Amino acid sequence: MHYFLSEEQRMIVDICRQIVEERILPVRAGLDEKGIFPWDIIREIGKSDLFRLFVPEEYGGMGTGIFEVCLATEELSRGDLSVATTYAASGLGFIPIIVMGNDQQKKRFLPSLASGEKLAAFGLTEPEAGSDASSIITKAVRDGDYYIINGTKQWITNGGEAEIYTVFAATDPSKGARGVSAFIVEKGIPGFEFGKKEDKLGIRASATRELIFTDCRVPKENMLGLEGMGFITAMRTFDQSRPAVGAQAVGVAQAALEEAVNYSRVRKQFGVPISSFQAIQHMLADMATKVEAARALVYHAAKVIDSGEKNIARLSAMSKLFASDIAMEVTLDAIQVLGGYGYMKDYPVEKMMRDAKITQIYEGTNQIQRNIIALDLIKRGAL
Ligand SMILES: Cc1cc2nc3c(=O)[nH]c(=O)nc-3n(C[C@H](O)[C@H](O)[C@H](O)COP(=O)(O)OP(=O)(O)OC[C@H]3O[C@@H](n4cnc5c(N)ncnc54)[C@H](O)[C@@H]3O)c2cc1C
Repeated sequence: MHYFLSEEQRMIVDICRQIVEERILPVRAGLDEKGIFPWDIIREIGKSDLFRLFVPEEYGGMGTGIFEVCLATEELSRGDLSVATTYAASGLGFIPIIVMGNDQQKKRFLPSLASGEKLAAFGLTEPEAGSDASSIITKAVRDGDYYIINGTKQWITNGGEAEIYTVFAATDPSKGARGVSAFIVEKGIPGFEFGKKEDKLGIRASATRELIFTDCRVPKENMLGLEGMGFITAMRTFDQSRPAVGAQAVGVAQAALEEAVNYSRVRKQFGVPISSFQAIQHMLADMATKVEAARALVYHAAKVIDSGEKNIARLSAMSKLFASDIAMEVTLDAIQVLGGYGYMKDYPVEKMMRDAKITQIYEGTNQIQRNIIALDLIKRGAL
């Protein structure tokens, strides 16, 4: 397919394809089975300058748009969603610094994240605050030049592996969402520890851990924006990052489609390839059409965001919602095309289905995306 990519965009896709072919495909089943964090591959992604994409040039980045991030994320997801999640979650961790950080914070933290020397993570969710993120109870209390953070964050991607964490805490619990503030917290400071690595259904090689804060003293210079701007920082970050979750979904769906098409050509039953059965042909046709539609919506959302448009919440949510629902449908259908073999670990489609499920859950469940879209429709009208 032709997506009218520039030479630079084509290069991003080609670099990712090479990493997928040479570094990811040979090891992905083992990483998944043992739940091994893919540090070697992440280092390679760093060396290939892919973390630089969205970071402004003056802070060591390449200053490209979300569209380029989506291209890279989609291709890496074609190889392995754990790797792509690790990559995208670092972006999720540093986007708050880009959207809300001051010049000093950007100079201090972005260059080592852009080079891939360090990973970032985004700490919002808590055991009692998932979809209702404004109800977080992790507290940050001002004490002279410091804030003292107490509380626990749950299911944080890159937890333990990342060096730099964007952490959301209530500085004024009486104000709800308006009393939340965002902080940059570095691994290794006293009072900041990690819980065990979660054992998950899918994206098993990505690290998901608790962040535990016990009287953790964070310098006041590490606050992003002003007190009370944390929730808006998180929402602005999601508006930028959700198309990349859509891109993850498109990548894994594309991979499942390719597996299904290839298998249907070689598997013979009743003396003929199963691709000669119209029932199989129609499944493949529907799968391909859905993937293409999801990709078009993700690319469109990314391009609208890159154009500088302000009201992006609806489109951003739509791209994540639609692509992730499609990824679930297409990966399930791929298993059906492969029949019993699709159910076995000898083929990668069962892993793709397990991996795809997370795209309907993280960065806001798809029920929450529908809420965002509906509220925006009602507020602004359907045009
Ligand atoms: C593997 C993994 C990685 C993650 N990585 C991160 C990370 O890096 N950083 C981070 O901060 N968080 C992370 N999360 C957390 C993730 O964002 C939350 O799991 C998600 O937002 C949903 O919260 P919850 O799981 O508590 O579900 P709940 O909020 O308890 O929801 C349960 C069900 O109720 C539905 N529901 C809830 N409220 C509504 C409503 N108002 N309307 C309709 N339906 C509703 C939900 O859609 C869902 O189906 C991760 C989670 C997982 C599983």
